[in-house]
Amino acid sequence: MHTTSFYHTAPDGVLQCDLCRHYCRIRPGRSGLCRVRKNIDGRLIALTYGRALSQSVDPVEKKPLYHFMPGTATWSFGTAGCNFTCANCQNWQISQALPDEEATPFIPPEKIVQNAIRAGCPSISCTYTEPTIFAEYALDVMKLAKESGLKTIWVSNGYLSPLCLDTIHPWLDAINVDLKSMDDAFYRRLCGARLAPVLDSLRQIRKSGIHLEITTLVIPGHSDDPAMLERLAGFIADELASDVPWHLIPFYPEISWKMHETPATEPSALETAWQIGRDAGLQHVYSASHNDTLCAHCGATLVKRERQFIGAQVKRFDAGGRCPSCNQPSPVKN
Ligand code: SF4
Repeated sequence: MHTTSFYHTAPDGVLQCDLCRHYCRIRPGRSGLCRVRKNIDGRLIALTYGRALSQSVDPVEKKPLYHFMPGTATWSFGTAGCNFTCANCQNWQISQALPDEEATPFIPPEKIVQNAIRAGCPSISCTYTEPTIFAEYALDVMKLAKESGLKTIWVSNGYLSPLCLDTIHPWLDAINVDLKSMDDAFYRRLCGARLAPVLDSLRQIRKSGIHLEITTLVIPGHSDDPAMLERLAGFIADELASDVPWHLIPFYPEISWKMHETPATEPSALETAWQIGRDAGLQHVYSASHNDTLCAHCGATLVKRERQFIGAQVKRFDAGGRCPSCNQPSPVKN
């Protein structure tokens, strides 16, 4: 059993988890909202430490990260559980799974790093489910990864606490955060969370210097309203930076957890959202039909991507970190 260090005992004796913005108060024998942190005999236990449910090699573009080591593979892993309950979740089989220590073999952090090195991956991604809820495991993997010269990535819903962010900061190179909507009602209704903490996290991440990209799932009738998308793009441009990449991805009802009756995203809705991002001044907006990275100064192609994003399907033209046409610095990090 792995005792977490991210908690304190409240004056009334209840354990309070300090890892994410839910700040659950957890009584003896009970678990937090994520169901993977449990008060056992007065200690807060991380039930999924070492219990990776899913491991595989993905293109880094699939995270999605387009301005960080493009064309490379990343060793990806995650554990059961999540601090959100998104009805649209496409990984719900593991995000909504209960921790099962007996059915899930223990995989030590060293093994995750060995797997990445054996597979030839220059980075490790904490992904598939929310890394915040397995932060101790992620941290131990990240520390070993750095010792081995690997980069580290999180794919997050942005609900991590300032304490969590400060703790992972020295070990984290890049993060993609879902900004699902600018409506608090959306977060309450579909995710069991709130909007404001996500915006706070995004501001802090941007200030921290960790490489940041943002993703929005465009769900018909829920997160495709042009006025909302204008506010969202405006937030990125005005409060973060106009060079933060914004990824627009389509919703697929058949693989969602609970939204089978909602239609799939039409290509025209993605195109509308893409134009909203560009009109807001965002320099790099990506969607199914906008996959290439273009120079923000002259429009020359810096990275060309075909659909599967691997090997020769990602071609770079920004040798030396500069645009081949106007010689301005490329926004893409190696
Ligand atoms: S990680 Fe978040 S959801 Fe889980 S117990 Fe801690 S505060 Fe609650």
